[in-house]
Amino acid sequence: MGHADYLRNGDYKRCNKCSEEKPLIEFYKLKHGAKGVFGQCIVCHNKRAKELRDLKPKETHSKKAKNYLDNNPEARERARQRSRDWRKNNLSYDAFRASMRRQAVKQATPLWVNFDEIQMIYKKANFFGFEVDHVVPIRSKIVCGLNVPANMQLLHKSLNSSKGNRHWPDMPERSI
Ligand SMILES: [Zn+2]
Repeated sequence: MGHADYLRNGDYKRCNKCSEEKPLIEFYKLKHGAKGVFGQCIVCHNKRAKELRDLKPKETHSKKAKNYLDNNPEARERARQRSRDWRKNNLSYDAFRASMRRQAVKQATPLWVNFDEIQMIYKKANFFGFEVDHVVPIRSKIVCGLNVPANMQLLHKSLNSSKGNRHWPDMPERSI
């Protein structure tokens, strides 16, 4: 029986951290794990992730770099130009990004999602010239939002691209 069948059959598993017996849907997927999921439930998993985050220094390298660029518009423009030039000379990079994006969407889509509903949302967005945005980004260093209707909102195209995957409601401030 494959991983998908297990989830559909409502199988249970005991979390090796909190020892509670929970349905498999309450575990993150892990292809080679027992029953196709992690040994720890999502609650324990996230608790551990938060502990690890709290150990990290507050001021990260990328934050320092961002502060520098915020205060030095000329340096920022040079950095942007470098990035534009680099991309122009590395067209396959865009293809690589697109492929990473498809992979991330696939991983963020739980088996129980209603694909018809998602398709409707995308159709509606396309019709009105909007883009579908994941409220909690499906790719970021800190969290992985799900590719499900409850995590979707329609944004005007110009807004969505500027939002990036750096901010969302209730995001932990220290982890930026
Ligand atoms: Zn647990």
